[in-house]
Amino acid sequence: MNRGATIVEVVAKCCCGSIYLRTAAECGTIHGVKHVCDIQPERTRQSAALPELYPLTFLPNVHNALWGRELWEISGLAQSPSIVASGALEGRALDDLASAYGAALTGTKAPRPDVFPLLFKVIEAKDRLSVQVHPAGGALGTTRPPEGDPKTEMWYVLGGQGRIFAGLKPGTDAAQVEECVRTGRFEELLVQHEAHEGEELFIPGGTVHAIGGDVTVYEVQQSSDTTYRLYDWGRVGTDGKPRQLHVEEALRAIDFDLSVPQPQKKEVTCPYFKFRSLVADGFLDVAVNPQTFTALYMVDDGRSVLVPANCSARIACNGRVLATTL
Ligand SMILES: [Zn+2]
Repeated sequence: MNRGATIVEVVAKCCCGSIYLRTAAECGTIHGVKHVCDIQPERTRQSAALPELYPLTFLPNVHNALWGRELWEISGLAQSPSIVASGALEGRALDDLASAYGAALTGTKAPRPDVFPLLFKVIEAKDRLSVQVHPAGGALGTTRPPEGDPKTEMWYVLGGQGRIFAGLKPGTDAAQVEECVRTGRFEELLVQHEAHEGEELFIPGGTVHAIGGDVTVYEVQQSSDTTYRLYDWGRVGTDGKPRQLHVEEALRAIDFDLSVPQPQKKEVTCPYFKFRSLVADGFLDVAVNPQTFTALYMVDDGRSVLVPANCSARIACNGRVLATTL
């Protein structure tokens, strides 16, 4: 397997700001057809031969929503996996690669080395997201609890002037939650913070939360799509009807004993991931670490790189870098 340092550099950028790692000529061809972000990336079929792993970059994977959009930077979820942008594995989907390479890619600390355990997104909220909660609990990929895969997440604020809603006011109980959902006064129960660039909020499973309008965050989360929508601010969907709420499930998932998340600027260590924010001056070295992959997000140019567990890398970058490992 490849243990030599590999230099990863941006070759081209889509007009939306997403990074597109190809030769300028190829990117030009695709731009000639349409905006890169409008192309639904497709996985290519597995071939029998497994090339050596190398630091991976991915095609833009954009999810538009009622309230803004999500850029799925690194995803192993089968319904919308990241697709490798260049190199010998170009076109291959991250969920397929995790199952083909196992711990060589994900690391020995992954709960199931053949499943990529985390999901990384940039969330650009123009309007506020619904108030939601995810189940807490066991590591992903062990046994799926009846209430759905658990999700602990964290946000790093990239920009915006809006608010962040994280946690219920101390002393709130289930009856108050139910009543405020029913009467449309749920905001009264939520702890709110102004979003400040560079601040982090750690949101363990069981915490009620929402991202406000005019906020952009980088989100690290357990790879799970279990979301219980508790309150939607009285909004209607594209069909003119209110979106479905999951109040009963949400009430079961809320942990009323959790302490209220506070904005912070320090390393985040939890049973599911380790996150740190650092500053690079020209380049960043990532060493081989058999226990874990390293996921990097370059704040200044919006570039993500996934360094597999059995690879080292020297990444050309400047400024703030967000690094996550298991
Ligand atoms: Zn969430």
